[in-house]
Amino acid sequence: MKVAIIGAGPAGLSCALELERHGISPVVFEQRHRPGELFDHCAAVLELFTRPIDPLKDLRKNYFIDLHPIYTIKLLDMKSPAEKVTVRGNLGYFFLRGGDPNSVESQLYSKLQGGVVTNKKVNYTDIYQEYDYVVVASGGFDMSRTEGIWSTVYATKLIGGTVIGEFNPAKLFMWLDTRYSKTAYAYLVPMEKKRAFLGLVVPDSTLEEARERWKKFWEMEHHPYEQVNEVIVEHNAGFVYPHQVGNLLFAGVAGGFQEPFLGFGMLSAIKSGVLAGRAIATGKRYEDLLVQLKEDMKHSLILREMFNSVDNKALDNIMKVLGLPGVKQFIYNTNIDFIRIGTAAVAQVKNALTKIRNR
Ligand SMILES: Cc1cc2nc3c(=O)[nH]c(=O)nc-3n(C[C@H](O)[C@H](O)[C@H](O)COP(=O)(O)OP(=O)(O)OC[C@H]3O[C@@H](n4cnc5c(N)ncnc54)[C@H](O)[C@@H]3O)c2cc1C
Repeated sequence: MKVAIIGAGPAGLSCALELERHGISPVVFEQRHRPGELFDHCAAVLELFTRPIDPLKDLRKNYFIDLHPIYTIKLLDMKSPAEKVTVRGNLGYFFLRGGDPNSVESQLYSKLQGGVVTNKKVNYTDIYQEYDYVVVASGGFDMSRTEGIWSTVYATKLIGGTVIGEFNPAKLFMWLDTRYSKTAYAYLVPMEKKRAFLGLVVPDSTLEEARERWKKFWEMEHHPYEQVNEVIVEHNAGFVYPHQVGNLLFAGVAGGFQEPFLGFGMLSAIKSGVLAGRAIATGKRYEDLLVQLKEDMKHSLILREMFNSVDNKALDNIMKVLGLPGVKQFIYNTNIDFIRIGTAAVAQVKNALTKIRNR
């Protein structure tokens, strides 16, 4: 069987690994000179969003992907304009991204038996007739939009860079303040004790606005760090349906698998990549294999919609509630899947209200 994969990010590489596991050797095209991100950063995966299963165990057991994080997240500091909450526990993992041998892309690539065709930008329209299947794992929405299956759900700019300073490798820091991040957030993730990635996510903004807000963020939070590079990228969450059109399968960000709430997408890119490969290899319907992932995206969207209308006062109130000992214990030190339970309840209330209004 002839299979092409467009993009050697987490989705494309994971898809290739699953195909190889089934004895199929795909051709992976990558426009860059090597697989994955060109700049170093660190991706957080929070256990809160994958409950009741630990994300690493889930990847190993259900997706046959064995990944090693650089650190376990043991500490989460969250700050709103007037409140601060610190949470302790086994909260998730930090994964390196970029060219480092320990990065996610390097780990996945090292397991691949076949290579990647680098420096090769391809469009599916040029190749789909040559292959039995083409997996679009390009990390963007261009090809999904051309097929008419993409709608943008949450468009943001992510501005940030590597900063030098003193960092706790087990700590994730998040700032919530509408004056610089509007309804999104800023965050600090360590790459090692003296190097971290500081980022600000700004929804619905131009490059100029994102830069202005980045300046404001530094001024308001008085960061003691030295910034050594600047990264500014479009970070879009979208809704995609269907995920397969003819012999084209869409995975990762291109398949709408970037969570709208926080813009996280590494885990869902890997999972959707594996499932695309599994669908091709086993003949199962891709859409059927995606049921759980699509459900996860739905819950994330409900959370996003809840946060889209918050102001700083509401953020402070949320933080106060999160800081209550009982609440903290319930959310962070149990294995209860409160995100799914909570967002499902919100969705039900919304549906009920809509029905009442439409009567
Ligand atoms: C700064 C930053 C911080 C992030 N932090 C987190 C985080 O903390 N947690 C988290 O879960 N997620 C995070 N994300 C999101 C996460 O990185 C993405 O969701 C994930 O990388 C998506 O994987 P993908 O394979 O779909 O796409 P990508 O990783 O974008 O990979 C797509 C690949 O396809 C290649 N490509 C594109 N077009 C073509 C073409 N026409 N021909 C050939 N090759 C092509 C690209 O060069 C790229 O290598 C972050 C992203 C950024 C940028």
